[in-house]
Amino acid sequence: MKVLEGVFVFFAIMFLLLSAIFFIAAFSPFSLDILVEAVVLLLIAMVFFFLYYRSEKMEANRPVEVYQDVNISTSKDLAGEAELHDLKCKHCGATLTAEDIKITDAGVIVKCPYCGAVYRLEEEPKW
Ligand SMILES: [Zn+2]
Repeated sequence: MKVLEGVFVFFAIMFLLLSAIFFIAAFSPFSLDILVEAVVLLLIAMVFFFLYYRSEKMEANRPVEVYQDVNISTSKDLAGEAELHDLKCKHCGATLTAEDIKITDAGVIVKCPYCGAVYRLEEEPKW
């Protein structure tokens, strides 16, 4: 993206200088044709400046999106703990703590420290 911005700025300045030369040429002696060409070159320069401005704006917006991704993954991690509020062993009814739960690839595994029951917790689609 940085390379592209450099290219935009380069072309914008090139066309700006070129149009400046055409403007000078158009008035010595005055020539409408050259003046029109100078205006066209100026417009092209403006387009490149606009492209540069837009790509810079997109660049500025990008970190926000990254932060959103981080937030989602963080809330995923915390969802397991948030779920523990009223989590009880489905065998003996004892209140379970975070240490009694292991999150594995197979799912959330509960190991009750009171009755020794080990079972997989059905994932609640809270997140
Ligand atoms: Zn139990």
